[in-house]
Amino acid sequence: MTSLPPITFIGIGAMGTPMAGNLARAGYPLTVFDLDSSRTAALATAHPALRVAGSLANAGANADILITMLPDGKAVRTALCGKDDGFRDCLLEKAAPGTTVIDMSSSSPMGTRDLGAVLAARGFPFIDAPVSGGVKGAVAATLAIMAGGDSAVFERVKPLLEKLGNALFHAGPLGAGHAIKALNNYVSAAGLAATCEALLAARAFGIDPGTATDIINASSGMNNTTKNKVRQHMLSGSYGAGFSAGLMAKDVRTALDIAEAMQTSSTVASHTAALWNEMEKALGFSADHTEMLRFLDR
Ligand code: NAD
Repeated sequence: MTSLPPITFIGIGAMGTPMAGNLARAGYPLTVFDLDSSRTAALATAHPALRVAGSLANAGANADILITMLPDGKAVRTALCGKDDGFRDCLLEKAAPGTTVIDMSSSSPMGTRDLGAVLAARGFPFIDAPVSGGVKGAVAATLAIMAGGDSAVFERVKPLLEKLGNALFHAGPLGAGHAIKALNNYVSAAGLAATCEALLAARAFGIDPGTATDIINASSGMNNTTKNKVRQHMLSGSYGAGFSAGLMAKDVRTALDIAEAMQTSSTVASHTAALWNEMEKALGFSADHTEMLRFLDR
């Protein structure tokens, strides 16, 4: 039996915690690092075999594969390459050339292309492989994973990705995974906003929002928000879907950037980005994204 390659996982947040946990459970030799040591300590309590690194540079040494699950592409580049790409106090400072880098964060695809050139010059194979399915999908290992970059690298790391998700796609060249991830989230964010506006109008008309949701779910307006978020996280008052308004706003801005860079239509995307930016400003980065209903109700 061939032994499993050692993996270093950076970013033990809402998503990284269950994803790293699934890799540990699958038997991969795992090293983890997060700026917030309470997060890695909690994970190590649940999985005593994993190693918590004391610094980014130590986390990057001795791994075959480095996975990043950080807020955005800027954080990923700084974690990998250090301040101003100085390769000091960073993951790649002590990593051997040939170490494969997988960015699973929802990063900007344009930034990913730039980062790809920097990593290629230093001999680090790199693919983007962001995910969809939320914390629930991360816990259940049922994430959709959309990769961009060299398909040979994707095939090589597929066995570990299969421990995290059950719908794996090779979307295209480097950055393609990040592009389709942002575009997907834009569709989701626009659908959520439209759903909230429809429910508020329905309520004002005298229709119970729960009944309105049931009717939409049996009709052509049904979407991920009406199925999985309205009753569960909005009407229940829990507002705890586990995905922040700030991260959603970032994804919609990225989608708008892509449409503008590609010079394709962006009428709905620009309105959607403006709305999510306004909500983030009003409720703060960390508010749950399902709080859009409360925000529009004010
Ligand atoms: P999070 O804020 O819960 O976790 C991010 C973690 O990264 C935090 O623990 C933070 O301390 C750590 N961190 C930040 N900078 C760091 C650095 N330089 N070095 C080490 N650790 C650092 O975010 P999340 O919800 O887990 O999301 C992570 C990524 O996944 C984001 O790009 C997000 O857009 C994407 N995503 C999230 C969801 C979701 O439902 N939460 C779903 C799909 C994709």
